[in-house]
Amino acid sequence: MAPDDENHAEQWPLPPSWMWSCQECTELYKQMKGAIEASVAARSAAGPGVDYDPMDIVLTKQLRLARHIALTHAPDVPDVDPECARCVSDAATRPDADEFVLEHRARHLFMPPIVAGLM
Ligand SMILES: [Zn+2]
Ligand SMILES: [Zn+2]
Repeated sequence: MAPDDENHAEQWPLPPSWMWSCQECTELYKQMKGAIEASVAARSAAGPGVDYDPMDIVLTKQLRLARHIALTHAPDVPDVDPECARCVSDAATRPDADEFVLEHRARHLFMPPIVAGLM
């Protein structure tokens, strides 16, 4: 493993080119990234100890993008990631074409593996 790969699990992947040729993917992705930046800014402005979680907005945006990909781009959803516990347990307990399975795997396209596995 190269030193650059050490934080691979936490790095935001570059979405595949087919996402950029879909207007809805592009729009939803931009909204999600915008919500993340707004959330980081709000968090540092609010300071520690403030009970305010703008990550809810990010969650909503990424769910919409994952759902859109699962419904519209099902053939482009990646295969099971053997290093992702959620992928592995889904593969063992749910049918392959299950909407929830596809939604989860779609997240691997545009989210860091560590985040995709948690949500
Ligand atoms: Zn799309
Ligand atoms: Zn996974």
